[in-house]
Amino acid sequence: MKYRSILNDKNLVSFSEALFEGLANDGSLFVPNEIPNYNLKKKYVNYFNLAQDIIYPFVKENINLNELKKICEESFNFEVPLKKLDDNIYILELFHGPTLAFKDFAARFLARSFSLLNKNKLTILVATSGDTGGAVANGFSGVKGINVVILYPSKRVTEIQELQLTRVKKNVKTIEVSGTFDDCQKLVKMAFSDKKLRNNVNLTSANSINIGRLIPQITYYIWAKNKLNESSNPVFCVPSGNLGNLTGGILAKLSGIKIKSFLAATNSNDSLVRYLKNGSFKIESTIKTISNAMDVGNPSNLERIKFLYNFNLNNIKNDIKSISINDSTTIKMIKKIKNKYNYTICPHTAVGLANIEKRGIKQNPVIYLATAHPLKFKNIIEPIIEEKIELPDTIKSLYEKQKKSIKMDPFYDKFKSFLLKNF
Ligand SMILES: *Cc1c(COP(=O)(O)O)cnc(C)c1O
Repeated sequence: MKYRSILNDKNLVSFSEALFEGLANDGSLFVPNEIPNYNLKKKYVNYFNLAQDIIYPFVKENINLNELKKICEESFNFEVPLKKLDDNIYILELFHGPTLAFKDFAARFLARSFSLLNKNKLTILVATSGDTGGAVANGFSGVKGINVVILYPSKRVTEIQELQLTRVKKNVKTIEVSGTFDDCQKLVKMAFSDKKLRNNVNLTSANSINIGRLIPQITYYIWAKNKLNESSNPVFCVPSGNLGNLTGGILAKLSGIKIKSFLAATNSNDSLVRYLKNGSFKIESTIKTISNAMDVGNPSNLERIKFLYNFNLNNIKNDIKSISINDSTTIKMIKKIKNKYNYTICPHTAVGLANIEKRGIKQNPVIYLATAHPLKFKNIIEPIIEEKIELPDTIKSLYEKQKKSIKMDPFYDKFKSFLLKNF
């Protein structure tokens, strides 16, 4: 399978090229040039077997079946349970990876694909507001030939996020920037546009514009269907920010998997709701909420979704509904689900579950994606449910390790000389 840029159907590249280039040279995003047509009759027992069958058509130009098998076995080595909450209501727990959020699916797959296909010494730059950096640090930890540089804003991430960012292996260097997330992002952008630097250091990015992050996210939709049953026609409810998760689901549906529709749940950052209503939206500045991984004002994957539906708004509206939920409703939902089902959810998952009572389409099962473990947001959740949440051993053990970070003021000349000296 080839990939093309959204703007130019003649601009065809392989999976490997799309992975390393990140953004197409015309400035638009890469999309698959064709969609596989799955006809899965098998009932899968192991997640990695299913993942391998789903991902293979997307990568086979560069990765053979044996190589892919190994990548999938190593990447998806944690459980992905589908839990029944109530009649026709299910929760797909996507947070059992090492950094306790669904970002692990993409980061672990990306790390191993980069490692296999990379011929030169490679340095990956990531600016993070919290979750992505941890998943990337963990995913690339100890991966040969690849160095990772993560920039995070000092004192602006949660305690657990900081543990995950700073207790890292040798090939990961974490820079604690005395500034904001925007300062971190600016340093990364300046590095990418610095020709002299790029002639000396082989740089790439692991942020969500990379198509390599979307492909592994197709697999859990199909896993959930496989667990439920083949004839079911579920609605998936997706807590949404940059819409990468939703795009994975749409690719699953377009490849012949029976899915009724999607409910994209957003917090107060409601650009998707406005887009579906009006066919366009005004970019507003980002609103800070308690579901912070979904605080995105201008979701970059919307362009991919438009492309996949031939830029036809009615077709998009047939498949995707969207709601916007504010913080006070999110808090009420966390409490309600705890009281009614004795089940604790993170703020992102709660934004999704907020429609549980007025979901309308009762004859179809609804599968709610749980995108992060509640304990990642321990400080928010504990006062709401009035209970302590126990940390798992994998997190507890991080407290015993030495913090490793490089403190830096947000000045580009400092960042540049750091990169030139180290890589
Ligand atoms: C990143 C993230 C989201 C949003 O996912 P998108 O693919 O950006 O829409 C939702 N929940 C959690 C916990 C996240 O980390």
